[in-house]
Amino acid sequence: MDLFPASSDVAGSSDDLQRVWQRCLAKIQSQVTSLGFKTWFQPIIPVKLVAKEITVQVPSQFFYDWVDQHYNSLIRETITSVLGDDARLYYSIASEDSEPAVDTPLDVPQSMQSSDALRYAQPTLPQPQPLFPPRAAFRQTEQPIAQSNLNPRYTFENFIKGDGNQLARAAALAVGNNPGGTSFNPLVIYGGTGLGKTHLMHALGNHAIGLRKAKRVVYVSSEKFTIEFVEAIQSDRVNAFSSFYRSIDLLIVDDIQFFSGKEKTQDNFFHTFNTLYQLGKQIVLSSDVPPKELKGLDERLISRFQSGLTADVQPPDLETRIAILRKKSEDNSFELAQDVVDFIASNVTSNIRELEGCLISLIARASLDNREITVDLAREVLRMVVNESKSPINIDQIQRTVCEFYDMPEDLLRAKTRKQEVVNARQVAMYLSKELTNSSLKTIGLHFGGRDHSTVIHSCQAVQDRLKSDSVFKQNVDQLRRRVELGGR
Ligand code: ADP
Ligand code: MG
Repeated sequence: MDLFPASSDVAGSSDDLQRVWQRCLAKIQSQVTSLGFKTWFQPIIPVKLVAKEITVQVPSQFFYDWVDQHYNSLIRETITSVLGDDARLYYSIASEDSEPAVDTPLDVPQSMQSSDALRYAQPTLPQPQPLFPPRAAFRQTEQPIAQSNLNPRYTFENFIKGDGNQLARAAALAVGNNPGGTSFNPLVIYGGTGLGKTHLMHALGNHAIGLRKAKRVVYVSSEKFTIEFVEAIQSDRVNAFSSFYRSIDLLIVDDIQFFSGKEKTQDNFFHTFNTLYQLGKQIVLSSDVPPKELKGLDERLISRFQSGLTADVQPPDLETRIAILRKKSEDNSFELAQDVVDFIASNVTSNIRELEGCLISLIARASLDNREITVDLAREVLRMVVNESKSPINIDQIQRTVCEFYDMPEDLLRAKTRKQEVVNARQVAMYLSKELTNSSLKTIGLHFGGRDHSTVIHSCQAVQDRLKSDSVFKQNVDQLRRRVELGGR
């Protein structure tokens, strides 16, 4: 049954747009799970149809990446089947204020459009992403566009404040409001990985551009700066390289620890730094350690780095982790139950990148397997995410964790004693060994003082029975399971 006009009849009215998109959705719906459909297709808004080019809006870059990675061929086939062979699909990514990004070209300061600026600048994300770019589009994207390399996804609005990042955030905001005009020059943000340094620096740059406080803003990683410098040497363009970087109003250099040991690059950067500083231009840097602890960096540079403000970012506390999870799931049009948020926030403590990683895996798992998002699913996902970087759980580790929990020496697990507390801990450890490792009952028995496999069965049964009737016991066992799964953390 064909409710819609044939592909060649498709024109550009908004009715047509809706009809075409509904038709695509109907086809897609029959091919994906209902949760997948709800999560990844319902939030897509069709915005434009011109001849056979349809533009749809997705809520975020993350959303786009996900859809592109998982459903690219399905969407491609669907659009082709609805609009015909030479159909094109463009994505626009809703910016923070939900304006479609497709019609708002990136702000390229005129002054940066010199040939040297073009030589050193890179395109910025996100751009409308053509699935089948016409030739003209290829020609356009092949031309490097002078840009700041700032990622518009990173803003202060979507940066969650917490005790650990308060100072760095406030300093970044002050500098973004008035680049070159505060005593925070340079501003150095330092701290462990995944704690928001890069996010803050982009937010600062975006903010300054938004307020028109800086014309030439460039974000560059120290690695990229180094590579460009080496290329400039090779192509005899060091002067052009230097004058490009010395003509910037707000220079943001990420991860300066990578300058370590690269003397010539450091030397060039030193002069760039001085020139900008003397001109009252703003410099913002990040590092994984405080400047004075940077190894392999020239003392002259280190002392320059320390002449402004140094602010650290620390791992987020529980409240901040909860707020971040809420915000990220909202941003991706995804609702998470409170107990799931609490579970992830209490178990993923190290950094924000890992928190995000868990959330994405969880959404992915649920939508691809068509499962409801529960604490159990979150536990499974966490185990996977955490185990990727860890060795599999073994019985010794379970015994250690259980004994720490019950505060008793490990050898009691293997001893003959039948004291109630010991029996209890031993049974729990056996149960967890059976649940969390692939060991046979016989192997488990051997690890518990050479007990026989029927004893292991009996212990597991006893624990299972008690889990049903004793809620405090269940809480303890759940907590132990989590600790073991997270490597005793
Ligand atoms: P770093 O540069 O310190 O390694 P990033 O800035 O790359 O860390 O942050 C890692 C991820 O965590 C990014 O996706 C970033 O958006 C997110 N993130 C970090 N801190 C926050 C925060 N306070 N609020 C929201 N998202 C954050
Ligand atoms: Mg970073």
